[in-house]
Amino acid sequence: MSKHIFVTGGVVSSLGKGLTAASLALLLKKRGYRVKMQKLDPYLNVDPGTMSPYQHGEVYVTVDGAETDLDLGHYERFTGDACNKKSNFTTGRIYSAVIERERRGDYLGKTVQVVPHITNEIIAAICSLDSPDVDIVVTEIGGTVGDIESLPFLEAIRQLRQEIGRDNGLFVHVTLVPFVKAAEELKTKPSQQSVGILRTIGILPDMLVCRCEKPLGEDHRHKLALFCNVEPTLVIEARDVAHSIYELPLELARQDMDVYVLEKLRLHVHDLDVTDWKKMLHRLIRPANGEVEIAVVGKYIGLRDAYKSIYEALTHGGVASDVRVRFRMVESEDVEAKGAEAVLGGAHGILVPGGFGNRGIEGKILAAQFARERNIPYFGICLGMQVAVMEFARNVCGLKHANSTEFDEKTPHPVIDLMEGQKGKDKGGTMRLGAKPCAIRPGTRAESIYGRREISERHRHRYEFNNSYRETFEKAGLCLCGLSPDNALVEMVEIPAHPWFLACQFHPEFQSTPLDPHPLFASFIAAACAQRKG
Ligand code: GLN
Repeated sequence: MSKHIFVTGGVVSSLGKGLTAASLALLLKKRGYRVKMQKLDPYLNVDPGTMSPYQHGEVYVTVDGAETDLDLGHYERFTGDACNKKSNFTTGRIYSAVIERERRGDYLGKTVQVVPHITNEIIAAICSLDSPDVDIVVTEIGGTVGDIESLPFLEAIRQLRQEIGRDNGLFVHVTLVPFVKAAEELKTKPSQQSVGILRTIGILPDMLVCRCEKPLGEDHRHKLALFCNVEPTLVIEARDVAHSIYELPLELARQDMDVYVLEKLRLHVHDLDVTDWKKMLHRLIRPANGEVEIAVVGKYIGLRDAYKSIYEALTHGGVASDVRVRFRMVESEDVEAKGAEAVLGGAHGILVPGGFGNRGIEGKILAAQFARERNIPYFGICLGMQVAVMEFARNVCGLKHANSTEFDEKTPHPVIDLMEGQKGKDKGGTMRLGAKPCAIRPGTRAESIYGRREISERHRHRYEFNNSYRETFEKAGLCLCGLSPDNALVEMVEIPAHPWFLACQFHPEFQSTPLDPHPLFASFIAAACAQRKG
């Protein structure tokens, strides 16, 4: 049977619960255990796929095509293991399943209730990850204890732990220990109260992870231990890390968090080998080759979470070249208003990430043009490929007003068009989603970057390159360097005459990890280094 760790959060959101869960999972994996991770989200959307980036940040896509919470990106980047459809459940998804069953008559005339029907469905979702190949399942409960909508989830994990016993289930509570300036002191009261709420539900946390900006002294540790009913060694300090989120696992390991977890779960404590992680971190924090600057041109620029995996993958690319990557976050509307030179000049590389909708689209097209004409490395991802194609159509192929039908249904040259099969579909979960194979054309830059001709990358889009323009583009110098194996879809384009101009319909950022930077990001950053040298 798999053992379970439940991670809850208290006092406020954004405490880094997901990072804590991911760091712990990494340490357990490095100690020789097979770990699976999962996030339970209390909101009513069936998945975050339909939510605005303002609400939710990036939508992370799994290999099997689930649109999920961005914490799953942390899970994959830290552990290097792929998540799947079972790795993220929301209240909406749980209720949908129960209501569907009710309509089928599966409950045989019973009154269908939150307890036991919803809670049982949640327990089944958690246990769906149990398997003989999984030693430990780490389940993060989204939201904050005390939220009305969290209750069924907390009740479910309470029941599950009761069922499997103390040796097989562990409660980790991530909480805030704020520093109050006026008193010059860390305050433990909010954490005591949050643990108090957990207790009224019947959950006694085994371990506290205390987010704080100043070191947690011995006195605070003992106070928290005493009033929250945990052993003092199980009060873990999670101080704001100085340089990188990837420092957190080592911080937790320094306090033997993983050792205590294994002891509590009555599992053998094998040696911990984090040499590769330390080496990566050293390159990340003290790179030998200085810094390059990458302009990321998007429309949610103040919102770092909206392009989370992009920034992470760029950082990983920096690790590969032993260089620090600085981000210049550019509002695409600013490119329209101020001109490309003013906002993009001096950047060593330009990246246009994925996106939807009209706002700022012309600015993204201008960014692609600026990169192409000035020989600046350009990396287009999903919408970033589509704008590169539109730009090339207008300014190289001479196709006036070329556009995507997403932005102009009446364009004379719909070089990007709605995919067959996407017409008239509902909004939720219906895009072309998940990992698909792609065949790379021999002799291209893409081939030399990947070092192979068959790849698999993750998708999330409705529109695609319009095949009736293939010849026009090839003749004008845009190489269609990646195609779906059945030759139906253009997945990657490059300009051979440019130092580094490559764009893809898929999202390589979802498959990059700090220990294994994605080849496209590594190569793009290497090109940016060359650009910096001039
Ligand atoms: N809006 C475009 C499409 O649906 C691009 C999507 C994306 O960038 N993820 O095809």
